[in-house]
Amino acid sequence: MAKIAEHFVAKGGRIEQGEVAAFIRGGGIEEVVLKDGRRMKADQIAVCAGAYSAKLAKILGEPIPLETERGYHTQIMSPGMTMRHSIIWPARAFMVTPTAGGIRVGGTVEMAGLDAAPDYRRSRITVKHAREALPNLQCKNFTEWMGHRPAFPDTVPVMSASAKTKGVFYATGHGHLGLTYAATNARLMADLMTGAKPPIGMHPYRVNRF
Ligand SMILES: Cc1cc2nc3c(=O)[nH]c(=O)nc-3n(C[C@H](O)[C@H](O)[C@H](O)COP(=O)(O)OP(=O)(O)OC[C@H]3O[C@@H](n4cnc5c(N)ncnc54)[C@H](O)[C@@H]3O)c2cc1C
Repeated sequence: MAKIAEHFVAKGGRIEQGEVAAFIRGGGIEEVVLKDGRRMKADQIAVCAGAYSAKLAKILGEPIPLETERGYHTQIMSPGMTMRHSIIWPARAFMVTPTAGGIRVGGTVEMAGLDAAPDYRRSRITVKHAREALPNLQCKNFTEWMGHRPAFPDTVPVMSASAKTKGVFYATGHGHLGLTYAATNARLMADLMTGAKPPIGMHPYRVNRF
């Protein structure tokens, strides 16, 4: 990600960080308004705020039934063992992955919305299950994390121009596979936003299918 960002800036791109709070629309999108009051002119925008995209779509008058499937992981820094590859235990819905910073145990789906505090009992249960598969796994030095998987009821992402506002595009709802789909999603969205013909039919991914 850092390398992609560097490349984008080297090519003349500009990165601004801030929380989007509102949009100014006329015949199409005109400006993006940030929570801190900054306003940015825009001919085109991509709403790709993960599970938070529903809030922005609602502000744009185009509500979408996007939910968050909350998931947890535990990053174990001194696991007392090494692994050469990931393992998945489908029946228990978790996965254990070796990373540069230790072993990561992740999984579970919690339907609790965007605002509820994380319930780390879930990550502890997942570690307990992982230790059944890997009895030598030690869990003393660790961090816990909760993240949001943006999910539609039909499990199909939205990659689409707005049906209401010229210049607005949506890319969200990639669920459990958002990292896997990231490059494909970016390629398709670039085609949509530059008027090129995408290499696949985009009808299944339209924003107004619900
Ligand atoms: C435990 C767990 C394990 C997972 N494992 C995998 C895996 O193995 N493989 C895989 O492919 N996927 C995996 N996923 C799913 C993947 O993480 C998501 O599908 C992916 O992160 C979605 O990407 P996104 O860019 O749409 O949203 P996000 O990654 O959620 O990014 C959205 C961004 O928008 C920002 N934002 C929100 N609101 C605003 C606003 N108003 N203004 C400005 N910015 C805003 C957020 O701060 C965030 O940076 C996993 C998810 C979890 C929770």
